[in-house]
Amino acid sequence: MSGSECVGARVRGWRRWDGRMGSAPHPLGARFADRSDTLETQGHGNSRKDTHMRTSRLARSLAAMTLAIGGLTVATATVTATAPTAHADECYTWSRTLSNGTSGSDVSQLQIRVAGWAGYGVNMAIDGQYGGQTTTAVKNFQSAYGLAADGVAGPATFSKIYALQDPDCTPIHFSYAEASENCGRGLNGNGSVSLATARENLKRVMWRAEALRHRMGDHPLRVTSGFRDKACDAGVGGTGGGQHTYGTALDLVPADSGTTLCKIAQNARYAGMGGIFGPGYPGHSDHTHVDIRSGQTWSASQCGI
Ligand SMILES: [Zn+2]
Repeated sequence: MSGSECVGARVRGWRRWDGRMGSAPHPLGARFADRSDTLETQGHGNSRKDTHMRTSRLARSLAAMTLAIGGLTVATATVTATAPTAHADECYTWSRTLSNGTSGSDVSQLQIRVAGWAGYGVNMAIDGQYGGQTTTAVKNFQSAYGLAADGVAGPATFSKIYALQDPDCTPIHFSYAEASENCGRGLNGNGSVSLATARENLKRVMWRAEALRHRMGDHPLRVTSGFRDKACDAGVGGTGGGQHTYGTALDLVPADSGTTLCKIAQNARYAGMGGIFGPGYPGHSDHTHVDIRSGQTWSASQCGI
């Protein structure tokens, strides 16, 4: 979808971005890879939706069986008992309050989820060090979701994050399936990085997209292209080595009339996106490309960017 312009932008940001990726740890990448082996074969939706669908089918079956023996009240109770509960522990659970000065892998996990709230033009590092950027991002996250904005990540903040994440650790409004259509091939290891790294990168850009979506009033966004393997990337006009082949990029379009491609581009500047290409940039009249490269490479002249 994004063609050569995404590739050109990639070349400009190449050295810094590549250096970051070379040294940046992906603390839970392997763990998630193990947990998400079936994603490539999923043709639709996200895991939570699938769980709901399975539960719904099961409930209907049980209800039908119970009705058949004349027990409507029992059927209702069965539906309640099989409803899915919160999924926090299926993904990641924080065990301590985090604040300015603390460090660790739990800080990195927090940073991934609040990186879209660090402020205009701030593309914060996921480095496990809770400093000024993280404090600001947590404050903005808290404020955006109606929590007391003290910049300290405690139980209330973690509860909100749990509510926003699926069991596979993606944010609730984005999914690996949607973000890895990849010419019909799904997420695979044939991009510019390993499957585990592509998955981790996708998760990170999706969390920033979740922030972007909320910033715009929770109007739905659709991902028209996310991860692409090298062959797919080349097939849609790229060189086969652009941001999409790393899993770091999403092409977004509005999914209702409440927002526009320009609004996406403009708000993306506040959502931790290092790369933004939208209307006015060649080849981007029908989508806005965002990515999490280091630095800042933005162009959408029709949107004042
Ligand atoms: Zn793109």
